[in-house]
Amino acid sequence: MMKTWCANARTQEKYSRLNAAAMWQPMLRERGYRSWRACFGPWIGSDWTKVSLHHAGQFFRKQLISKPRHAHPADDQGPAWSHGAQDGWLLFRGPSSEFWFDHWIRDLKTRGVSFIWNTPLERFEYDGATITAGCLNSGALVEADLYVLAVNPFAAAQILARTPNLERQAELRLFKPLVQEGPHVQVSFRIAYYEPVIFPRARTAVVVADSEFNLTLFAEDQVWDSKVDLGRNVMALWTGTSCVGTVPGRLYNLPVMKCSKDQFLDEVKAQILSCESLNALIQEANGGRSLADFTIAKIEVWHEWIFSPEGIRGPQPKWVTTTNTQPYLPSQVTPVPNLFLAGAHTKTEVDVWSIEGAVESGRRAARAIDPAVEVISQYKPWWLRAISAVDDVCYRAGAPHVLDILLVSLLLSAALTIALLLI
Ligand SMILES: Cc1cc2nc3c(=O)[nH]c(=O)nc-3n(C[C@H](O)[C@H](O)[C@H](O)COP(=O)(O)OP(=O)(O)OC[C@H]3O[C@@H](n4cnc5c(N)ncnc54)[C@H](O)[C@@H]3O)c2cc1C
Repeated sequence: MMKTWCANARTQEKYSRLNAAAMWQPMLRERGYRSWRACFGPWIGSDWTKVSLHHAGQFFRKQLISKPRHAHPADDQGPAWSHGAQDGWLLFRGPSSEFWFDHWIRDLKTRGVSFIWNTPLERFEYDGATITAGCLNSGALVEADLYVLAVNPFAAAQILARTPNLERQAELRLFKPLVQEGPHVQVSFRIAYYEPVIFPRARTAVVVADSEFNLTLFAEDQVWDSKVDLGRNVMALWTGTSCVGTVPGRLYNLPVMKCSKDQFLDEVKAQILSCESLNALIQEANGGRSLADFTIAKIEVWHEWIFSPEGIRGPQPKWVTTTNTQPYLPSQVTPVPNLFLAGAHTKTEVDVWSIEGAVESGRRAARAIDPAVEVISQYKPWWLRAISAVDDVCYRAGAPHVLDILLVSLLLSAALTIALLLI
């Protein structure tokens, strides 16, 4: 982990091609290894079978030593609060659409933004020098001075492929290799109960560490505003995700990608109910009652997922960094002077596929258009920057990691000191 923190080029070029779970496996006992890799799903947002050492390292560096505390003053939304590393999950007080997107869209509309919903961009009209229009699947043309392509990389690859001489341009030709591994199958589901079922600590997700599907659970009702309607007679609402799509489950010996919807839900119930640690947490917070004592009112998969014998699919394929993506991250600036790229899959200082990466990419695209736009730099303590700069020199010279060199030098000087004392 420290080696990824104390490197620049080495982690981006070398560690980004190594699987994090495989690298850590020899250093951990079986149980520790399984628990550790189970955190990759909900925390890193990825599949442990594919996540890179670089990605895992960058993610945990930001989690553990992000910027010094930031004080948020009191406002009409609530009292003052402070935001620091390791503070637990930050969440809305209710479902994202009602508590964020609806407000945001209203605000943007008042500022003159127009939206065209449910009408995907199909392709660009390109005259060999600039983009002249965006063609929607309704047949409508959208003409503008500048175009920012901020769709997911799977859609971007398809859109660009429809205009081959545009797809061939530098940066734009990276999309095909960028999506070569296909989407990450992260299936959301929710479980409702007619009576409260409490987790010992609010704002803390529960990772079911022995689950083949890498299940994670979160008790929304413990975090949301008490006025949020959870559903008729629903007193507890858990959301969950499965983050590993290729490992067979215990009931049907099928991975998520091959399950029918009923098989998937049966597996989810079986994996949750047989987890002794989860049960111990539930007993601790619910007066000794076991999870099996609570009757599930309803369990359902997020409606967009389509299960079929050919495999599971959804309309919004989820891209995520893997051991095969780092060399293909495109820049926000393209050789086409009026076409820009944005999205968490583009090259950013955040360098983790996340909301923050998406925000930075937007600022970078905006700055390419208007140099007055500020791009906020990522925090990295001076001592990590210094060690990383030294490691860049070691890496370019083909030498071992600076930490290895330091360790060997320390051991040698300790041995030398002891030898001198003994003489
Ligand atoms: C289940 C889940 C949980 C996550 N949890 C977290 C988290 O806790 N913290 C965190 O930081 N990150 C989290 N992420 C990751 C984060 O959501 C993404 O990194 C981020 O949303 C990427 O932003 P983006 O703008 O690049 O792409 P998106 O948010 O994917 O936006 C792309 C948009 O393009 C639209 N689009 C697609 N095709 C077309 C087309 N042809 N024409 C027009 N529009 C199109 C899509 O509808 C979409 O709205 C999570 C992701 C998932 C899936």
